[in-house]
Amino acid sequence: MSVPTYKRILLKLSGEVLMGEQQFGIDTEYVARVAQEVKDARDSGLQICLVIGGGNIFRGMAGAAKGMDRAQADYMGMLATVMNALAMQNALEQIGVPTRVQSAVQMDQVCEPVIRRRAERHLEKGRIVIFAAGVGAPYFTTDSGAALRAAEMRCDALLKGTSVDGVYDADPKKDASAKRYETVDYDTVLADNLKVMDASAVALCRDNNIPIVVFSIRERGNLARVLAGEGTQTVVRQGA
Ligand code: UDP
Repeated sequence: MSVPTYKRILLKLSGEVLMGEQQFGIDTEYVARVAQEVKDARDSGLQICLVIGGGNIFRGMAGAAKGMDRAQADYMGMLATVMNALAMQNALEQIGVPTRVQSAVQMDQVCEPVIRRRAERHLEKGRIVIFAAGVGAPYFTTDSGAALRAAEMRCDALLKGTSVDGVYDADPKKDASAKRYETVDYDTVLADNLKVMDASAVALCRDNNIPIVVFSIRERGNLARVLAGEGTQTVVRQGA
């Protein structure tokens, strides 16, 4: 695989990544480990936007399945993403990386609102910008938030760091013959309903020609490997 030449990326981490080996919540040691990998990437000269999910704390769909009003549950999910963003900001700043959190749900005492031009300036100054609260509306996910911020911040790629090492043609946990794609087209992902990100996020990346790189962040050192075009990953892009 050719070495990617990214100048600016959006790194999306699922909330469950922050749990480490726990079943729920935030494992601060694990967050520190991931923060170190993010620091190393940023120290190599890369500009980094971060989006972190909230699934380790609360997912709106889970609340709705138990009878909650969906929009209300989604607002709780958005607040969970702000907690994760603050945890990651803390971990990054403890190792000397200046970081700003910008939330799509305004929270003046806690973080900045999303202001694109200000975010640009932060990146130019070498700060990492963590975008919290997804798109700021219920019925969306942080995947859509990640695609939206990747587009508006003109990122060269959206890297999705998760618990699986790429995109498979079937669920690898249930089907031993499931095959991992090296590359796959956006339209195949959408038509075959492959588990990458939700459809609105994939469509937004397709329409703005932003490659999606899916890899496992659980493997130590994998972010650096993926940025070097090595390691196990799937790239979703046009004409794959
Ligand atoms: N959420 C939302 N709108 C957004 C982003 C997130 O309503 O723009 C809520 C939604 O309830 C979601 C929860 O926040 O389930 C946590 O985000 P997500 O499920 O994307 O987290 P992840 O699966 O990446 O950990």
